[in-house]
Amino acid sequence: DGVFDRVFGRTRDLQAVDDVSLEIGAGETLGLVGESGSGKSTLANLVTGLEAPTSGEVRLDGVPVGPAGDRSPDTLADIGVVFQNPHSSLNPRMTVERTITEPLRARGWDEGRRRERVSHLLEVVGLSERYASQYPHELSGGQIQRVAIARAIALDPKLVVLDEPVSALDVSVQARILNLLLDLQRDLELTYLVISHDLDVIEHVADRIAVLYLGELMEVGPAEAVFERPAHPYTAALLEAIP
Ligand code: ATP
Ligand code: MG
Repeated sequence: DGVFDRVFGRTRDLQAVDDVSLEIGAGETLGLVGESGSGKSTLANLVTGLEAPTSGEVRLDGVPVGPAGDRSPDTLADIGVVFQNPHSSLNPRMTVERTITEPLRARGWDEGRRRERVSHLLEVVGLSERYASQYPHELSGGQIQRVAIARAIALDPKLVVLDEPVSALDVSVQARILNLLLDLQRDLELTYLVISHDLDVIEHVADRIAVLYLGELMEVGPAEAVFERPAHPYTAALLEAIP
């Protein structure tokens, strides 16, 4: 029931994500934490449909959605994604405008509507109009993540999955991007699955926290409760490791 399961390799001796069941309520931010290799990106890929589970399913508004290849255009539009690495998350040959309008183009928006939407989205993510014609190599890491966020929210998704959205950025830029995400959530009533190995990042944005360890869910609960009274010894150890 709502279980994700991913088994890598033919020997089935390693399960990247095993028996994990999670729900994300509309308008909330679920923060997913765990060490490198704990299965965070695999879980994100199951939600976005980039990978298919060996058993279990992903449901959106209670309706099972298959892997990306089987998803309807509406379902694809319902989940926006922002990846970790600013430079590999955007196509280096596409201008900012083209990047942001790709999902709109795929949905059949005409040029006039696309232009209007891009102007609006650039403003919303705090970039001036002049960036529309620029290429990723002309932008800073923070600006690139702003473009990636604009693309992710272009079609008013029901869920935005952010896999390490700030870990490649300077700390001061991290704070600005996290605050942007919070502002957008308040203004646009967005729902986030935010993934980070950094508990400070998760503490800044998450309403609830899920802790993943070796592919298994250690605990999930309200952010304050997990930080103040971790139920699992692993979570306590993770918290103690923070300076
Ligand atoms: P990081 O913090 O480093 O991004 P993560 O928590 O996102 O780590 P995953 O990338 O989901 O972890 O990886 C979970 C486990 O699955 C790891 O042991 C990883 O080596 C393994 N893994 C991930 N992708 C594959 C793949 N395509 N084939 C085989 N093993 C994989
Ligand atoms: Mg990862």
